[in-house]
Amino acid sequence: MRPIHLLVLGMLLMLATDISAAERLSVYTVNYPLAYFAERIGGDQVEVVFPAPADVDPAYWMPDQSTITAYQQADLILLNGANYAKWVSKVSLPRSKTVDTSRSFKDRYIYSSEVTTHSHGATGTHAHESLAFTTWLDLSLAKLQAEAIYKALALKRPTAEVEFKGNFQALSDNLDQLHSQIREIVARGPGRALLGSHPVYDYLSAGYRINLRSVHWEPDEVPTVSQWNDLNHILEEHKAQYMLWEVGPLPGSTAELNARGITNVVFSPGGNKPDNGDFMSVMQQNITNLKQAFQ
Ligand SMILES: [Zn+2]
Repeated sequence: MRPIHLLVLGMLLMLATDISAAERLSVYTVNYPLAYFAERIGGDQVEVVFPAPADVDPAYWMPDQSTITAYQQADLILLNGANYAKWVSKVSLPRSKTVDTSRSFKDRYIYSSEVTTHSHGATGTHAHESLAFTTWLDLSLAKLQAEAIYKALALKRPTAEVEFKGNFQALSDNLDQLHSQIREIVARGPGRALLGSHPVYDYLSAGYRINLRSVHWEPDEVPTVSQWNDLNHILEEHKAQYMLWEVGPLPGSTAELNARGITNVVFSPGGNKPDNGDFMSVMQQNITNLKQAFQ
Protein backbone atom coordinates (compact mmCIF):
# COMPACT_ATOMS: atom_id res chain seq x y z
CA MET A 1 0.00 0.00 0.00
CA ARG A 2 1.32 3.45 -0.88
CA PRO A 3 2.04 5.87 1.96
CA ILE A 4 -0.71 8.22 0.86
CA HIS A 5 -3.24 5.39 1.18
CA LEU A 6 -2.00 4.56 4.65
CA LEU A 7 -2.41 8.18 5.61
CA VAL A 8 -5.97 8.29 4.30
CA LEU A 9 -6.76 5.01 6.05
CA GLY A 10 -5.35 6.37 9.29
CA MET A 11 -7.44 9.50 9.01
CA LEU A 12 -10.54 7.46 8.29
CA LEU A 13 -9.89 5.28 11.35
CA MET A 14 -9.45 8.36 13.52
CA LEU A 15 -12.65 9.78 12.12
CA ALA A 16 -14.53 6.52 12.82
CA THR A 17 -13.29 6.43 16.41
CA ASP A 18 -14.30 10.04 16.95
CA ILE A 19 -17.77 9.46 15.62
CA SER A 20 -18.39 6.40 17.74
CA ALA A 21 -17.26 8.25 20.88
CA ALA A 22 -19.52 11.19 20.05
CA GLU A 23 -22.45 8.95 19.30
CA ARG A 24 -22.37 6.98 22.49
CA LEU A 25 -25.56 7.37 24.43
CA SER A 26 -24.92 9.18 27.66
CA VAL A 27 -26.66 7.24 30.43
CA TYR A 28 -26.84 8.55 34.00
CA THR A 29 -28.03 6.34 36.85
CA VAL A 30 -28.97 6.86 40.51
CA ASN A 31 -27.24 3.77 41.85
CA TYR A 32 -24.55 1.26 41.04
CA PRO A 33 -26.69 -1.78 40.15
CA LEU A 34 -28.43 0.21 37.40
CA ALA A 35 -25.06 1.45 36.14
CA TYR A 36 -23.76 -2.12 36.02
CA PHE A 37 -26.85 -3.32 34.14
CA ALA A 38 -26.66 -0.42 31.68
CA GLU A 39 -22.99 -1.12 30.97
CA ARG A 40 -23.62 -4.82 30.42
CA ILE A 41 -26.58 -4.18 28.10
CA GLY A 42 -25.32 -1.06 26.33
CA GLY A 43 -21.74 -2.20 25.76
CA ASP A 44 -19.82 0.13 23.44
CA GLN A 45 -22.98 2.01 22.52
CA VAL A 46 -23.21 3.75 25.89
CA GLU A 47 -21.23 5.94 28.22
CA VAL A 48 -22.60 5.13 31.66
CA VAL A 49 -22.13 7.63 34.48
CA PHE A 50 -23.01 7.05 38.12
CA PRO A 51 -21.56 10.19 39.71
CA ALA A 52 -22.13 9.57 43.45
CA PRO A 53 -18.95 9.56 45.57
CA ALA A 54 -17.90 6.12 46.79
CA ASP A 55 -18.53 6.85 50.47
CA VAL A 56 -22.20 7.85 50.34
CA ASP A 57 -25.43 5.91 50.36
CA PRO A 58 -26.89 6.84 46.95
CA ALA A 59 -30.39 6.46 48.40
CA TYR A 60 -29.85 9.54 50.62
CA TRP A 61 -27.18 11.38 48.65
CA MET A 62 -27.80 14.92 47.34
CA PRO A 63 -25.90 15.79 44.14
CA ASP A 64 -24.57 19.34 43.73
CA GLN A 65 -25.95 21.69 41.10
CA SER A 66 -23.40 20.89 38.39
CA THR A 67 -24.03 17.16 38.83
CA ILE A 68 -27.78 17.72 38.59
CA THR A 69 -27.19 19.66 35.37
CA ALA A 70 -25.14 16.75 34.03
CA TYR A 71 -28.05 14.38 34.79
CA GLN A 72 -30.44 16.77 33.00
CA GLN A 73 -28.24 16.78 29.91
CA ALA A 74 -27.88 13.00 29.62
CA ASP A 75 -29.59 11.02 26.86
CA LEU A 76 -31.13 8.69 29.43
CA ILE A 77 -31.62 8.97 33.19
CA LEU A 78 -32.18 5.64 34.89
CA LEU A 79 -34.10 5.81 38.16
CA ASN A 80 -34.58 2.97 40.59
CA GLY A 81 -38.15 3.92 41.50
CA ALA A 82 -39.72 3.07 44.88
CA ASN A 83 -38.65 6.54 46.04
CA TYR A 84 -34.97 5.61 45.94
CA ALA A 85 -32.60 8.60 45.63
CA LYS A 86 -34.61 11.21 47.51
CA TRP A 87 -33.04 14.05 45.50
CA VAL A 88 -34.91 13.03 42.36
CA SER A 89 -38.20 14.36 43.76
CA LYS A 90 -36.57 17.71 44.62
CA VAL A 91 -35.34 18.62 41.13
CA SER A 92 -36.85 18.67 37.69
CA LEU A 93 -35.58 16.02 35.30
CA PRO A 94 -36.74 15.88 31.68
CA ARG A 95 -39.52 13.32 31.59
CA SER A 96 -38.73 12.15 28.07
CA LYS A 97 -35.28 10.99 29.16
CA THR A 98 -36.25 9.53 32.52
CA VAL A 99 -36.88 5.82 33.00
CA ASP A 100 -38.31 4.39 36.22
CA THR A 101 -36.80 0.91 36.06
CA SER A 102 -39.11 -0.61 38.68
CA ARG A 103 -42.31 0.76 37.18
CA SER A 104 -43.37 -2.63 35.80
CA PHE A 105 -43.59 -4.10 39.30
CA LYS A 106 -45.09 -1.23 41.26
CA ASP A 107 -47.70 -3.69 42.52
CA ARG A 108 -44.88 -5.62 44.20
CA TYR A 109 -43.47 -2.67 46.12
CA ILE A 110 -43.14 -3.45 49.81
CA TYR A 111 -44.56 -1.14 52.43
CA SER A 112 -42.98 -2.13 55.72
CA SER A 113 -44.69 -1.30 58.98
CA GLU A 114 -41.80 -2.46 61.09
CA VAL A 115 -39.04 0.12 61.26
CA THR A 116 -39.13 3.86 60.65
CA THR A 117 -36.86 5.06 63.45
CA HIS A 118 -34.19 7.66 62.97
CA SER A 119 -30.52 7.04 63.23
CA HIS A 120 -28.23 9.64 64.74
CA GLY A 121 -24.50 9.47 64.44
CA ALA A 122 -21.40 9.93 62.38
CA THR A 123 -23.13 8.84 59.19
CA GLY A 124 -25.85 11.46 59.63
CA THR A 125 -29.51 11.25 60.38
CA HIS A 126 -31.89 9.50 58.10
CA ALA A 127 -35.27 7.86 58.35
CA HIS A 128 -36.73 4.94 56.44
CA GLU A 129 -40.17 5.52 55.06
CA SER A 130 -42.55 2.63 54.90
CA LEU A 131 -41.86 2.14 51.18
CA ALA A 132 -38.82 -0.12 50.88
CA PHE A 133 -36.51 0.64 47.96
CA THR A 134 -33.72 -1.95 47.79
CA THR A 135 -35.66 -3.69 45.05
CA TRP A 136 -32.75 -5.42 43.29
CA LEU A 137 -32.05 -7.72 46.24
CA ASP A 138 -34.85 -9.86 44.85
CA LEU A 139 -32.89 -10.87 41.75
CA SER A 140 -36.09 -11.56 39.83
CA LEU A 141 -36.95 -7.87 40.31
CA ALA A 142 -33.39 -6.90 39.37
CA LYS A 143 -34.00 -8.74 36.11
CA LEU A 144 -37.15 -6.69 35.46
CA GLN A 145 -35.13 -3.53 36.08
CA ALA A 146 -32.50 -4.75 33.60
CA GLU A 147 -35.28 -5.44 31.11
CA ALA A 148 -36.56 -1.89 31.49
CA ILE A 149 -33.05 -0.64 30.72
CA TYR A 150 -32.83 -2.87 27.65
CA LYS A 151 -36.15 -1.54 26.35
CA ALA A 152 -35.19 2.08 26.99
CA LEU A 153 -31.86 1.66 25.20
CA ALA A 154 -33.54 -0.08 22.26
CA LEU A 155 -36.00 2.80 21.96
CA LYS A 156 -33.21 5.36 21.99
CA ARG A 157 -31.09 3.45 19.52
CA PRO A 158 -33.17 1.00 17.44
CA THR A 159 -30.21 0.25 15.15
CA ALA A 160 -28.46 -1.53 18.05
CA GLU A 161 -31.48 -3.43 19.31
CA VAL A 162 -30.10 -6.87 18.40
CA GLU A 163 -26.86 -6.13 20.24
CA PHE A 164 -28.76 -4.88 23.31
CA LYS A 165 -31.01 -7.91 23.27
CA GLY A 166 -28.10 -10.35 23.22
CA ASN A 167 -26.36 -8.50 26.04
CA PHE A 168 -29.56 -8.36 28.09
CA GLN A 169 -30.08 -12.10 27.61
CA ALA A 170 -26.59 -12.85 28.94
CA LEU A 171 -27.15 -10.58 31.96
CA SER A 172 -30.56 -12.06 32.51
CA ASP A 173 -29.03 -15.56 32.63
CA ASN A 174 -26.52 -14.38 35.23
CA LEU A 175 -29.27 -12.86 37.38
CA ASP A 176 -31.32 -16.06 37.06
CA GLN A 177 -28.35 -18.03 38.34
CA LEU A 178 -27.99 -15.80 41.41
CA HIS A 179 -31.73 -16.07 41.98
CA SER A 180 -31.71 -19.89 41.92
CA GLN A 181 -28.67 -20.06 44.17
CA ILE A 182 -30.37 -17.98 46.87
CA ARG A 183 -33.55 -20.01 46.54
CA GLU A 184 -31.61 -23.25 46.98
CA ILE A 185 -29.79 -21.95 50.05
CA VAL A 186 -32.93 -20.68 51.75
CA ALA A 187 -34.68 -23.99 51.01
CA ARG A 188 -32.16 -25.69 53.33
CA GLY A 189 -33.73 -23.97 56.33
CA PRO A 190 -37.32 -22.97 55.62
CA GLY A 191 -38.69 -20.51 58.16
CA ARG A 192 -35.32 -19.99 59.83
CA ALA A 193 -35.31 -16.76 61.83
CA LEU A 194 -32.80 -14.13 60.70
CA LEU A 195 -32.12 -10.56 61.76
CA GLY A 196 -31.33 -7.57 59.58
CA SER A 197 -29.16 -4.84 61.12
CA HIS A 198 -30.67 -2.22 58.82
CA PRO A 199 -34.06 -2.09 57.05
CA VAL A 200 -32.72 -2.78 53.57
CA TYR A 201 -33.57 -6.46 53.19
CA ASP A 202 -37.33 -6.34 52.59
CA TYR A 203 -37.17 -7.46 48.97
CA LEU A 204 -34.63 -10.15 49.81
CA SER A 205 -36.79 -11.57 52.58
CA ALA A 206 -40.04 -11.30 50.61
CA GLY A 207 -38.55 -12.64 47.37
CA TYR A 208 -36.98 -15.68 49.00
CA ARG A 209 -39.42 -16.12 51.89
CA ILE A 210 -36.79 -15.48 54.53
CA ASN A 211 -38.19 -15.08 58.03
CA LEU A 212 -36.34 -11.84 58.74
CA ARG A 213 -36.85 -8.98 61.17
CA SER A 214 -34.80 -5.80 61.02
CA VAL A 215 -33.52 -3.28 63.49
CA HIS A 216 -32.03 0.06 62.42
CA TRP A 217 -28.37 -0.05 63.39
CA GLU A 218 -25.28 1.32 61.70
CA PRO A 219 -22.16 -0.83 61.24
CA ASP A 220 -19.88 1.99 62.41
CA GLU A 221 -21.83 2.87 65.56
CA VAL A 222 -22.16 0.99 68.83
CA PRO A 223 -25.86 0.29 69.46
CA THR A 224 -27.37 2.21 72.38
CA VAL A 225 -28.86 0.56 75.46
CA SER A 226 -32.34 1.08 74.08
CA GLN A 227 -31.34 -0.49 70.78
CA TRP A 228 -30.04 -3.56 72.63
CA ASN A 229 -33.29 -3.69 74.60
CA ASP A 230 -35.29 -3.61 71.38
CA LEU A 231 -33.21 -6.48 70.07
CA ASN A 232 -33.70 -8.49 73.27
CA HIS A 233 -37.42 -7.96 72.87
CA ILE A 234 -37.37 -9.20 69.27
CA LEU A 235 -35.30 -12.24 70.25
CA GLU A 236 -37.94 -13.34 72.76
CA GLU A 237 -40.27 -14.27 69.91
CA HIS A 238 -37.84 -14.42 66.98
CA LYS A 239 -35.05 -16.87 67.87
CA ALA A 240 -32.46 -15.74 65.35
CA GLN A 241 -28.83 -16.89 65.33
CA TYR A 242 -27.65 -14.77 62.41
CA MET A 243 -27.76 -11.05 61.64
CA LEU A 244 -27.29 -9.63 58.15
CA TRP A 245 -25.02 -6.58 57.86
CA GLU A 246 -24.29 -4.25 54.95
CA VAL A 247 -20.63 -4.34 56.03
CA GLY A 248 -19.05 -5.95 59.07
CA PRO A 249 -19.85 -4.04 62.31
CA LEU A 250 -17.59 -2.76 65.08
CA PRO A 251 -15.89 -5.46 67.20
CA GLY A 252 -17.86 -4.30 70.26
CA SER A 253 -21.18 -4.96 68.53
CA THR A 254 -19.94 -8.34 67.34
CA ALA A 255 -18.91 -9.37 70.85
CA GLU A 256 -22.29 -8.38 72.32
CA LEU A 257 -24.11 -10.23 69.55
CA ASN A 258 -21.95 -13.31 69.96
CA ALA A 259 -22.80 -13.28 73.66
CA ARG A 260 -26.45 -13.56 72.60
CA GLY A 261 -25.63 -16.48 70.29
CA ILE A 262 -25.81 -14.34 67.16
CA THR A 263 -23.28 -14.54 64.31
CA ASN A 264 -22.79 -11.76 61.75
CA VAL A 265 -23.34 -12.41 58.07
CA VAL A 266 -22.32 -9.70 55.62
CA PHE A 267 -24.85 -9.24 52.82
CA SER A 268 -24.00 -6.07 50.93
CA PRO A 269 -26.90 -4.40 49.10
CA GLY A 270 -24.29 -3.05 46.68
CA GLY A 271 -26.06 0.28 46.12
CA ASN A 272 -22.72 2.01 45.54
CA LYS A 273 -19.64 1.01 43.57
CA PRO A 274 -17.75 -1.84 45.26
CA ASP A 275 -14.07 -1.33 46.16
CA ASN A 276 -13.30 -4.52 44.27
CA GLY A 277 -15.16 -6.53 41.67
CA ASP A 278 -18.58 -5.74 40.32
CA PHE A 279 -22.28 -6.37 40.94
CA MET A 280 -21.96 -10.07 40.13
CA SER A 281 -18.98 -10.70 42.39
CA VAL A 282 -20.57 -8.75 45.27
CA MET A 283 -23.75 -10.82 45.00
CA GLN A 284 -21.73 -14.02 44.66
CA GLN A 285 -19.88 -13.16 47.87
CA ASN A 286 -23.21 -12.40 49.57
CA ILE A 287 -24.48 -15.81 48.53
CA THR A 288 -21.37 -17.51 49.90
CA ASN A 289 -21.84 -15.64 53.19
CA LEU A 290 -25.55 -16.43 53.34
CA LYS A 291 -24.86 -20.17 53.16
CA GLN A 292 -23.54 -19.98 56.70
CA ALA A 293 -26.93 -18.89 57.99
CA PHE A 294 -28.68 -21.83 56.35
CA GLN A 295 -26.32 -24.68 57.19
ZN1 LIG B 1 -31.09 3.51 57.53
